[in-house]
Amino acid sequence: QTSCEKQVEYYLERIKSSQHLNAFVEVFSEEALSKAKEIDSKIKNGTAGKLAGMVIGIKDNISYKNHRTEACSNMLKDFKPVYTATALQRLIDEDVIVIGRLNCDEFAMGGSNEHSAYGPALNPHNNEYVTGGSSGGSAAAVAAGLCDAALGSDTGGSVRQPASFCGIYGLKPTYGRISRYGLIAFGSSFDQIGTLTRCTDDAAILLELMAGHDKNDGTSANKKAERYSESSSEKKRFRIAVIRQCLESNGLDQEVKSAFLKFIDELKSEGHTINMIDFPLLKQMVPAYYILTTAEASSNLSRYSGLLYGKRTKIPGNLDETISNSRSEGFGKEVKRRILLGTFVLSSGFYDAYYEKAQRVRRKILDETCKIYEENDLLLSPATPSTAFKKGAKQDPVAMYLEDIFTVHANLAGMPAMAFPSGKHSNSLPFGFQVMSNRFEEATILDFVRIKQESVTLI
Ligand code: GLN
Repeated sequence: QTSCEKQVEYYLERIKSSQHLNAFVEVFSEEALSKAKEIDSKIKNGTAGKLAGMVIGIKDNISYKNHRTEACSNMLKDFKPVYTATALQRLIDEDVIVIGRLNCDEFAMGGSNEHSAYGPALNPHNNEYVTGGSSGGSAAAVAAGLCDAALGSDTGGSVRQPASFCGIYGLKPTYGRISRYGLIAFGSSFDQIGTLTRCTDDAAILLELMAGHDKNDGTSANKKAERYSESSSEKKRFRIAVIRQCLESNGLDQEVKSAFLKFIDELKSEGHTINMIDFPLLKQMVPAYYILTTAEASSNLSRYSGLLYGKRTKIPGNLDETISNSRSEGFGKEVKRRILLGTFVLSSGFYDAYYEKAQRVRRKILDETCKIYEENDLLLSPATPSTAFKKGAKQDPVAMYLEDIFTVHANLAGMPAMAFPSGKHSNSLPFGFQVMSNRFEEATILDFVRIKQESVTLI
């Protein structure tokens, strides 16, 4: 009924009229149009790939050969990678059309998209509010119908939290499920590429095509991708655990809480089993996450010295001055804060008290979480404690970090999790719930979310 060319024209038009959202930091108009024409003829010849017709945007930390990839940082201004991230290449090989690169918090560090060298992306539901982050541009673009789907990255919730704030689906796969090759590193033992979509099926097909071993990423799992796109027709009954402490947590919005309790009742009446469990380690998750990820970030970002990597200062000086001035100019405030924190927790004298202790906590979280899955298929919680907040409302970094209370669990344990739209608040903003499973059980998550799926209407 339509063509790829018309589809791209349609999205380009919408992108133009939605510029105020600041979702895209660059649009590949010409290139996307010519790619669309090419794929239209492939469709005619019967040689088109599985994603022919799908138009996606990519978070600005996913390398795309010969295209600027800046992680929304001045440090990487005008940087063009010499290779494409494996995950993205696999989609391109199936004829996906990449329409542009999307706004995010600098180096994916943040939970509101306010820490971007390009300024904040705005929530399409209400422009006074943040999109969430760090994949804020990805969430805004998909929610506002500027592309079919988007890629994001999730170190502690950066796919799921903005998906929840913008009323769409956000999937973070198991650590190692998708290659990180070409994803600009933040916390290497946490980072995973994920999807932001308007339905479960889009998430499933994207995952299916991106997943699988990659020789260029030593941490990618040597496990074949499953056929996530084939939903099982069997009507399943799930055993679902709910952590009591999540519902007792201070910042949890009352409306989100009552919607969640209602959802649980609904699940029970549909024949699923709900097991309320205790998980006292909830309190330790955010501190452990911020100690370990800042440590990894300080190490990962040490390469941006302005010498081999990163933008070099114009101020003349000796070696130390050049490095210092380049880093002072190139990095934003939040990134600097994390480098300082990370360097501190790794420093001799403090290493045992912080970094090593946090590693032990991480191990304990993993062990205790594995126990949950001996008797349950899924773990359910709200995705975020509340809906999106107003721009500028969270100046205190700790208040911002606490937003991640429900999402960091999956990254600490390396397990998959998905946020799905679950209702509208009386403030007119959407909110989502999150379902998590044991490692490599993405299919279970998708089966569950499919039965609870509601269609997302374009704003
Ligand atoms: N909000 C979290 C943080 O600031 C998550 C970031 C992410 O997942 N990339 O670290």
